Amino acid sequence: MAKSPEMKLAVFGRAGVGKSALVVRFLTRRFIWEYDPTLESTYRHQATIDDEVVTMEILDTAGQLLKVEDTQQKESHMRWGDGFVIVYDITDRGSFDEVAPLRGLLEEVKKPKNVPLVLVGNKADLDHARQVGTEEGERLAAEMACAFYECSACADEGGMVAEAFHELCRELRRR
Ligand code: GDP
Ligand code: MG
Repeated sequence: MAKSPEMKLAVFGRAGVGKSALVVRFLTRRFIWEYDPTLESTYRHQATIDDEVVTMEILDTAGQLLKVEDTQQKESHMRWGDGFVIVYDITDRGSFDEVAPLRGLLEEVKKPKNVPLVLVGNKADLDHARQVGTEEGERLAAEMACAFYECSACADEGGMVAEAFHELCRELRRR
């Protein structure tokens, strides 16, 4: 049997948007309320997506305090990855504003352009505190020509978190 393809996925987004919570949810189907915000980890995960076994290596990034170091680290993570999840928090407008610059850096680091990407608006369970409309997320994703999901790492009834990761794998497979 052919060796299953291995995909390197990196998760980006402002501190506190729920990157670690989303990755842990995807890997364990559980929610962990407090996760060390400075911790950066990679995880290996196997899943069957559309009857094909896929091995993923998932990098849950965490920023650096110093701006120069932060950018250098981001760039090296971007060089490492094949596909990317960019996360913002629907209750944090600032985190949404950081999506386009992140995408810009990705396009700069990864040439050719059209980097495999999905956009995730996390914390959809906190609708009462929403600062970013669903249509805004949809519009931004359309501009970036990528799939878009509103998710909640803590209340993931529909399995949207896994759906976002799986869609990224499908996108990579189409390349
Ligand atoms: P990271 O810095 O992007 O890795 O963010 P974390 O995963 O550490 O999450 C930051 C905070 O947001 C933690 O207090 C989490 O409990 C909380 N959080 C993460 N995802 C969700 C979510 O979907 N809903 C809610 N209500 N809180 C979340
Ligand atoms: Mg984290």
